[in-house]
Amino acid sequence: MYQALLADARFHRLLLDMDADIAARCRAGRCPCGGALHTAMFRRKPRGWPAGLGDAYDQRYSFCCAVRECRQRLTPPSLRFLGRRVYLATIVTLIGAMQNGVTAARLQRLSTALGIDRRTLGRWRAWWLSIFTATPFWKMAAAAFMPPADPSRLPLSLLERFAGGPEDRLIACLRFLAPLTGGSALRHAF
Ligand SMILES: [Zn+2]
Repeated sequence: MYQALLADARFHRLLLDMDADIAARCRAGRCPCGGALHTAMFRRKPRGWPAGLGDAYDQRYSFCCAVRECRQRLTPPSLRFLGRRVYLATIVTLIGAMQNGVTAARLQRLSTALGIDRRTLGRWRAWWLSIFTATPFWKMAAAAFMPPADPSRLPLSLLERFAGGPEDRLIACLRFLAPLTGGSALRHAF
């Protein structure tokens, strides 16, 4: 059940470990100008994650070029953060999937149970159905799925394209979305 993952601290720690690996690879690659990269994390105060994950969970990995004339910021892709959204990528994806085909009454119950207002849920749905589907990323990536993921049933149709149990599918989906969450692609992600 996808919903159980939302409250699973072990699952959220796994995402943090994966983000740390992605960040380490980004840092080892240096700046395009050749300069070394310094850590310049920023605090994101994400919402919708279980208690007890610690301060590290609030930090988005980011780097700044050490060369004074360059100072370029490089933000690696993340499995936790979808662009500048305050809600975690996991939440936006899973709740987006749960909204597929629901009645107004069920949407209200979902909103109450999660403590997230209906307008926010509606914005997420609109993001999946119109903003996400219009990104250059999706236009390229959609072609890789056979059968194609039905754009009117996103993100559920996307989760269904990956194999395994709920956790495997979600991680595969977050990895798939990761290019949308880092560097110059950030501007498309929200
Ligand atoms: Zn540089």
